[in-house]
Amino acid sequence: MENCIFCRIIRGEAPAYFIYRGRGVSVFLDIFPVEKGHMLIVPDEHYESLHDTPPRIAAKLFTVAAALVRILRNELGFPGVNVITNSGRPAGQEVFHIHVHVIPRWHGGGWRRLVSRHRLTDEEANEFIDMIKPYIHIIDEYLGEVFGEGM
Ligand code: 5GP
Ligand code: ZN
Repeated sequence: MENCIFCRIIRGEAPAYFIYRGRGVSVFLDIFPVEKGHMLIVPDEHYESLHDTPPRIAAKLFTVAAALVRILRNELGFPGVNVITNSGRPAGQEVFHIHVHVIPRWHGGGWRRLVSRHRLTDEEANEFIDMIKPYIHIIDEYLGEVFGEGM
């Protein structure tokens, strides 16, 4: 998709802070995080939302989500995490390239308090990347367990 912002990020034509790249899936930081460490899981192939995404790719996105929740809760000690995908404009979808939000939560408020956002700073991005970097192999372990070591 020529003008899709997430396709452009994946092709390297627009910048993003990448957390993970591999096996047809990328994870990068949301530019307007709800809380520090707000990530987006995005397939390399363009689909609009969960309604037109092939099941194998949907399964891959949520396998990565499970790995990230494991890392955030068990390794980094975050007390809460939201995993969300918005399908369609009335549900709040703004970028029409499927993505799953993984939002670490320190401050509480549940899903009703997902609106307080700020612009991602370089300092915040680099701090979070340094925190999560030692545990990124867990994503490959989860994908390997579900999809096999090859792909
Ligand atoms: P949606 O509402 O479609 O589920 O979420 C789209 C998300 O993408 C929003 O949280 C928004 O902040 C994020 N976003 C939009 N444009 C960009 C961008 O250019 N780069 C990054 N990293 N995130 C973006
Ligand atoms: Zn796209």
